[in-house]
Amino acid sequence: MYKLTSPSVALDIMHKHGFRTIKAFGQNFLADEHYVNSIVDAADISNDDVVIEVGPGIGTLTQLMCMRAKHVIAIEIDKKLIPVLNDTLADFDNLTIVNEDVLKTDIKAIVNEYSPERAVKIVSNLPYYITTPVIMRFIEEDVPFSLMVLMVQSEVADRLSASSGNKDYGVLSVMLQCVCDIEFMFKVPASVFIPRPQVSSGVIRLRPKEKRLTAKNSELFRSIVKGAFMQRRKTLLNSLSSVSELKTLTKAEITEILSQAGIPATERCENLSIEQFIALTDSTEAYLSK
Ligand code: SAM
Repeated sequence: MYKLTSPSVALDIMHKHGFRTIKAFGQNFLADEHYVNSIVDAADISNDDVVIEVGPGIGTLTQLMCMRAKHVIAIEIDKKLIPVLNDTLADFDNLTIVNEDVLKTDIKAIVNEYSPERAVKIVSNLPYYITTPVIMRFIEEDVPFSLMVLMVQSEVADRLSASSGNKDYGVLSVMLQCVCDIEFMFKVPASVFIPRPQVSSGVIRLRPKEKRLTAKNSELFRSIVKGAFMQRRKTLLNSLSSVSELKTLTKAEITEILSQAGIPATERCENLSIEQFIALTDSTEAYLSK
């Protein structure tokens, strides 16, 4: 089996297949044994697990996951990588390679076919240009997963895992943390990729919450969270008046809504917990339907 964690072996394989990386597909391949082991270890894969990998590249993480999992489904958009993967992963019969765009793949059909009874694990060194759409797709389509381990740009990892009061806390942190607990696992330096990216990366681990946190009106929740963070430095009294559903209300009415939710009008959105955003949405909903 090829030792793909060795940069010279990875380069030789690409050369053998006449493969050149494409920037537009976010192709920065991990070539480092320590970080490959750490990512796969973070997913705690056992031989009962079915794993979906987004973007296997030349198969570096895939190899190790195939050794540990019951089955791995690797979804790769670049058709030029398919012969490479057929070569590097030839030893495994517990692998399905899907040559598709993950944003168009019928993920639910894959889960139904390979793991109808057990939630899957999702592991990926994500192409940076579709980080948020991929994560949101898995969440919004309600793909049953027990764990996601994702490598993303370091600053995105900070934003996704930030809690209230932190400068990186924002719309994405709130929307995702309603449904998942998110841990920042470790940083990965740019020097361990081929080719080397401009920025460092971070690995995060997402576990679905036992009970999702939801407001009664999810559209209004989204609108309030987005509107509040558009002017994150302002007090809620000021930033909320730009939320479309609240535009016609006076400051006194917004103060009343905030007070019903137990939130001081001078508070800023970056200090609100998810539960407080939900209370604020529910109190707005109640006020608007009076
Ligand atoms: N897993 C490999 C590794 O760690 O070395 C490669 C990671 S590389 C950052 C991202 C991979 O995702 C590339 O192989 C790229 O071709 C693939 N990719 C990019 N866009 C994709 C999409 N929309 N659907 C599926 N795969 C995609």
